[in-house]
Amino acid sequence: MRLFSILQEILKEMDVSKEDSPVREIRINPIIPTESVLVATARSMRPRKAEEPAPRDTRKHVDTCPFCTGNEDKTPPEIKRYPDQGDWDLRIVENLYPVLGNDRSQPGLLFGLQQAIDGYGRHEVIIDHFQHGIAVHEMSHDHLAKLFGVYQHRMKELYQLDERLKYVLIFKNFGPAAGASMAHTHSQIIATPVVPQNVYDEVHYSHEYYKRNHQCIFCSLINEALTFEATIYDRTSGQILRQINVGQYVVERGEKFIAIKPFASRYEWEVHILPLQHASNYLDTSPEDLDDLAKVMQRTMARLDAVIGGAQYNFFLHTLPQSGEFQSHGHSYHWHLEICPRTSIPTGFELGSGLFVNTISPEKAAEQLRAVQL
Ligand SMILES: [Zn+2]
Ligand SMILES: [Zn+2]
Ligand SMILES: [Zn+2]
Repeated sequence: MRLFSILQEILKEMDVSKEDSPVREIRINPIIPTESVLVATARSMRPRKAEEPAPRDTRKHVDTCPFCTGNEDKTPPEIKRYPDQGDWDLRIVENLYPVLGNDRSQPGLLFGLQQAIDGYGRHEVIIDHFQHGIAVHEMSHDHLAKLFGVYQHRMKELYQLDERLKYVLIFKNFGPAAGASMAHTHSQIIATPVVPQNVYDEVHYSHEYYKRNHQCIFCSLINEALTFEATIYDRTSGQILRQINVGQYVVERGEKFIAIKPFASRYEWEVHILPLQHASNYLDTSPEDLDDLAKVMQRTMARLDAVIGGAQYNFFLHTLPQSGEFQSHGHSYHWHLEICPRTSIPTGFELGSGLFVNTISPEKAAEQLRAVQL
């Protein structure tokens, strides 16, 4: 009897008839072909556990929070504040627990085939807003545009300050699973003497694509998203195997920026924002463009909040590295912002295989995000 009920349970788990056309396919990341994602939407294919949403602390001011106004003396040393006189909107401070130090002790260590580079670099915190618990989608356009301007300004300064720095990574963590230890809204800057591997891979593979196709792959993906409809026919019978409406990946559009759901999304609700016109370097973005970026970002975050409200997330800025060896890659690389909500916990299978499992089809996720009435 017990066996019977277990079997029934298993059969129930395997029953995919309620799902409309479940997807189960391995998708190759078009930009980094060595990276792939298993998109498996049938219930029985879901190996992931749901990640807890972060508790939202919506308070405007918390007396004991070192990042709140009035507690400026409780943060690590201040690097800058904006504006520099009167009440501040944003501040940049040193990180209290830097993962990298700016005192260079050893030039690099070699252990036979194994190498370690000294953990030299800079680690800073941007207090995004004077209001403690404000979410990105609740910030005004003007404030968000200012924040994007501050990112740009500080990146430029760091590159000028120290030519050994090869990459300045700007990112934001929201929620403990995403790595945020402070509830007060903030972003981080990590400047390193090496280009992070995923940025390097993007730069490298998009350059390879450019050499073959004389086009930027990111521009090609945007063009596809805006115009293309693909039909795959069976070679012998001529029957339609699959129709892909590529336009279904667009989540949000501004005058100068577009938010798209990547075809091979690693995370269920991952969204990327890119300039519509080709641009390799975030540092060249004009203030008018940053204003449109702020609008697209705000609307995208509002859509995400409506669908997966309170979810923990990271976002990172990927732009052409400053160092000379990449200066000829300006035609092939296209800067972008990757937003990666953490709605499920990666499994041992994913960590061990490097193959991400996405349990919601990117097409369905984009549809849901687009359907939000703003
Ligand atoms: Zn605070
Ligand atoms: Zn491009
Ligand atoms: Zn990227």
